[in-house]
Amino acid sequence: MNGERVLTLSLELAHQPAIPYGFTLDLISRRDYGAEVQVPMAILRFALPRVTLWQRLTGRGMARFEAGDLLGVLPEGSPVPRLYSLASGASDGFIEIVVRKHPGGLTSGQLVALKPGARVRAFLRRNPRFHAGQDRVPLILIGAGTGVGPLAGFIRANARRRPMYLFFGIRNRDSDFLYGEELAIWQTEGRLARLFTAVSRGARPHYVQDALRAEAALVADAIRQGARIMVCGGRDMAQGVARALEDILASSGLAPAVLKAEGRYVEDVY
Ligand SMILES: Cc1cc2nc3c(=O)[nH]c(=O)nc-3n(C[C@H](O)[C@H](O)[C@H](O)COP(=O)(O)OP(=O)(O)OC[C@H]3O[C@@H](n4cnc5c(N)ncnc54)[C@H](O)[C@@H]3O)c2cc1C
Repeated sequence: MNGERVLTLSLELAHQPAIPYGFTLDLISRRDYGAEVQVPMAILRFALPRVTLWQRLTGRGMARFEAGDLLGVLPEGSPVPRLYSLASGASDGFIEIVVRKHPGGLTSGQLVALKPGARVRAFLRRNPRFHAGQDRVPLILIGAGTGVGPLAGFIRANARRRPMYLFFGIRNRDSDFLYGEELAIWQTEGRLARLFTAVSRGARPHYVQDALRAEAALVADAIRQGARIMVCGGRDMAQGVARALEDILASSGLAPAVLKAEGRYVEDVY
């Protein structure tokens, strides 16, 4: 007997998610990566939506946002929004995300095909657990692939020159080194203290966990100073990173309880 007959109600089986008040965003620019390693990715930059006085007065103006918050995107052809990590904050004056095209993926396919001037429907979702915060303690940022987006946003916003260390996993330096040029500039500006890249395609495959182990002394020293660790990437990477950090703590005589870590483990981001 089916559920409808037992309940004597007609069941609405099509899921219609409640969509928060949203905006139409105009794409200003796009930068493409990853074609050579068959993982098309793009850094997409949208203009901040214009907010009318009426929207401001009625509380429908755009909320403040920062890197690590989420952008919900409504694709054409589905009522279900997909979430993307913000790589910028409101003070940057634009909305930026990094998107990887999933084979057959609806939203990522549409986003990665957008041309400047094109529009998408979107909304903001605050995500305070994944903010860099105002502390002065060092920040160890660990990411791979599109996971670097929010981490790049933290570094760009680091005007106070808090010590930030980025461990970044890429496949090929010539193909998917997202934010490569900015990272060099941010280092000279002091927003990024050190950059460690791990390249997984080539004669000597190297992953972020290998880069962490190679810098065990620096990592342990930062943890002794109260460093916070923020990880953004796929689950496999997260597991490897957790093991490397456990080993670094053990070999440095640090108790596991000293670790202050936040993770955004998104399946298949990389
Ligand atoms: C908190 C959070 C943050 C995220 N941040 C980012 C980010 O910064 N950047 C980023 O790129 N992604 C991010 N993601 C992932 C993103 O939200 C989407 O899940 C991703 O872009 C895929 O969406 P899509 O609409 O393209 O794919 P979908 O259309 O949802 O499909 C997903 C996969 O399922 C397959 N599929 C779809 N329908 C079927 C079917 N009927 N049968 C079999 N297979 C099917 C597709 O081929 C595809 O590979 C994040 C996710 C979360 C939860």
